[in-house]
Amino acid sequence: MPQDTSPSRAAPDQAEVLIIGAGPAGLMAADHLAGLGHAVTVCDRMPSPARKFLMAGRGGLNLTHSEPLERFLTRYGPAAAALEPAIRAFNPDALRAFALDLGQETFIGSSGRVFPRAMKASPFLRAWLSRLEARGVRLISRLVWDGFAGPGTSRFLAADGSPRLMAARVTLLALGGASWPRLGSTGGWATPLRSEGVELVPFQPANCGFTVDWPADLVAGFAGTPLKRLAARHRGHTVRGEAVLTRQGLEGGLVYALSAALRDTLAAEGEALLELDLRPDLDADELARRLARPRGKQSRSTFLRKAAGLTPVEQALVRALTPRLEAPEDLAAQIKALPVRLTGTAGMDRAISSAGGVAWSAVAADYSLKVRPDVHVAGEMLDWEAPTGGYLLQACFATGLAAARGMAAALARDTGQAGGTPS
Ligand SMILES: Cc1cc2nc3c(=O)[nH]c(=O)nc-3n(C[C@H](O)[C@H](O)[C@H](O)COP(=O)(O)OP(=O)(O)OC[C@H]3O[C@@H](n4cnc5c(N)ncnc54)[C@H](O)[C@@H]3O)c2cc1C
Repeated sequence: MPQDTSPSRAAPDQAEVLIIGAGPAGLMAADHLAGLGHAVTVCDRMPSPARKFLMAGRGGLNLTHSEPLERFLTRYGPAAAALEPAIRAFNPDALRAFALDLGQETFIGSSGRVFPRAMKASPFLRAWLSRLEARGVRLISRLVWDGFAGPGTSRFLAADGSPRLMAARVTLLALGGASWPRLGSTGGWATPLRSEGVELVPFQPANCGFTVDWPADLVAGFAGTPLKRLAARHRGHTVRGEAVLTRQGLEGGLVYALSAALRDTLAAEGEALLELDLRPDLDADELARRLARPRGKQSRSTFLRKAAGLTPVEQALVRALTPRLEAPEDLAAQIKALPVRLTGTAGMDRAISSAGGVAWSAVAADYSLKVRPDVHVAGEMLDWEAPTGGYLLQACFATGLAAARGMAAALARDTGQAGGTPS
C-alpha cells in the first residue's frame, strides 16, 4: 500500500472516507468501502499497520471458532445481543471464506478453534495490504488521532509533535482497546471522546494474568515454567489447559479463560481463590491408590513423579501452597485442589484484550456515534469482551464490516441529499 507520512499542514487534508486505526477492524472497513469504489485513507500512529494482529499470529492466529453459532454468540456475555447482528452478517464461515479469498486456507484444530494453515498472520496481512493497495487505499503512518477540530475534521499529532488536520465525509474510529499498548492501542482515545460527550465504560484487563504472592524460592526456581494439562476451578467454572508460573503470578490460556470471573471476584472481595487440579485425568480415589504404593527407597520427589506423574514445578507448588501431608487420600485431595490465592490482575501491558470502551448506549445500530453521526466506531474499542478462542478477531472483523456498511449508507444518503451521483 502506498505510504504517505506528510499530509498538508496548512489546510485540512481531504479524504472521502477516513479510517483511523489500521488493525483488523479498520482494515476490514477499508477493504469493504474501497471495494465499493470509495476513496479511502487509513491513518495509524504506528510506523506499520496491524501490529497486534501480527502479534496474534505468534500464537498461531486463532481467527475464529467452529462451534455452533448460537453457542458462539454466548461467548460475548452481556454484549452478545449488541454484537449479534454484526456477527450473524459476517459469521465464522464468512471469515474463513474471506481468509481463503486472500489465499489463506484455514483448518479446524482439535479444540474447534480455526487457524490459517500458515499458523501466522504475516502472509494474511501481506495479501490483504496488496489487495487494499490495488483498490487505491492510501495509508498514512505515524499520525496520532487527537480528537475532532469541528464537524468532519479530525485532529492529529505527527511524529514531530506538529498538529495536522484531515477532513472527511465519513470517519471510522477503529483504535483498538488498551492492552499491549506498545503495539499501538493505548486507549488514549478515551480522553478526546469523553470530551465529545461519548459515554465510556472504564477499561479493565481481559484474558489477563494474575498476581500471586509466591514464596521467593518458588519464583527463584520456577519462574517461566509451564504447567501443562491441568484444570482450574473458580466458583463453579472449571477449565482445562495450560498456564505459566511467572514472577508475578500466573498467566496463560487456563487463567485467561477464567479471567472475567476472577476479575469480578477480585473487584468485589480483594482476592480470588483459584483451585488447581494437577491431575485432572485421574479421580481422587485412583490417585490415592497410586500414592498408597510402597515407596521403598525412593526419595519423596522420585516417588511423587512416578506414582502421581508430578513434575518438579508441580511438586514445588504442592510444597509451597499446602502443608506436607503423608496420608495418600489427603495428598491426593491436595493435588486435585491446590489453592492459589490471586491478589490482583497482572495489568494491561500483557493482557490479551481489554474490557470496557465505548458504551453500546453511545452507538447507533449502524455503528455511528449518536453524538456525531458522521463518525463510526468498530472493533475492540467498543465495550465487549470474550475469552480467547477466536472470538476477539471475529468480533473485530464483523464490527469493522458492519460499520463500513453503515458508512456506505451514510455516504449514499449524503450524496442523494446533495443531488449528486454516488462516488
Ligand atoms: C498477544 C496477543 C495475542 C492475540 N491472539 C489472538 C488470537 O489468536 N485470536 C483472537 O481472536 N484475538 C487475539 N488477540 C486479540 C486481537 O489481536 C485484538 O482483539 C484485535 O487486534 C483488535 O482489533 P482492532 O482492529 O479492534 O484493534 P487493534 O488491532 O488494536 O488496532 C488498532 C489500531 O489503532 C491504532 N491506534 C490506536 N490509537 C491510535 C491513535 N490515537 N491514533 C492513531 N492510531 C491509533 C493502533 O496503532 C492500531 O494499529 C491477541 C492479542 C494479543 C495482544
